[in-house]
Amino acid sequence: MIRERVLVIASAEFITSAVRPEQYPRDELPEVAFAGRSNVGKSALINCLVQRRKLVRTSRTPGRTQLINFFKINDSFLFVDLPGYGYAKVPKDLRATWGPMVETYLASRENLRGIVQIMDLRHPPTPDDMGLWSWLKEKKIPAIPILTKADKVSRSKWGPQVQTAGRILGITPSDFIIFSAQTQHGRNELLLRIRELLPDNSQPMSTT
Ligand code: GDP
Repeated sequence: MIRERVLVIASAEFITSAVRPEQYPRDELPEVAFAGRSNVGKSALINCLVQRRKLVRTSRTPGRTQLINFFKINDSFLFVDLPGYGYAKVPKDLRATWGPMVETYLASRENLRGIVQIMDLRHPPTPDDMGLWSWLKEKKIPAIPILTKADKVSRSKWGPQVQTAGRILGITPSDFIIFSAQTQHGRNELLLRIRELLPDNSQPMSTT
């Protein structure tokens, strides 16, 4: 029997917050970034992955959430929490800086290995979701599409919702990971897909 190699998250620590490239961490560890509409469940998803209730602060906590936050995992790679987009309540000038701040990171960060793009299983992808997905494809940045809050949708609706999201974004339905931070559905699959983005020598905690 072939056993799949699992990515075990043994440690996770907050490193720094940044707006501009000169504030990014200087070490050159590989990075996987997380993006999604504000309130989509991004903090809950990252906290679920690392099995810590409050490593990443939720969007209801002002401050850190409008910055790019870097977390070191297993001392060997970084999770990068990008600020949520499309939040109507942020002041106009902040909304104007979201695009350039994140675009600069995504376009210039050489150690970026891929993006986890988080969307809501309950609703069709928004124009902002579509914009980010097509931009990532255009830039050839590997991206894992997530449909989260699955526990809020009855199982019989999962299939149709995934079909709709796939049609809108041009994604094969089986490429989506259906996720729930509440039940941890999809956690192992997401860890496997993240593992595939990382170079082999950056996961000392993986086992065969
Ligand atoms: P963020 O702004 O994208 O970081 O969103 P949060 O992680 O703060 O989540 C927004 C709200 O959705 C919070 O009230 C979370 O408790 C809730 N939430 C997030 N993920 C899930 C999930 O998978 N299932 C359920 N039922 N609620 C969730």
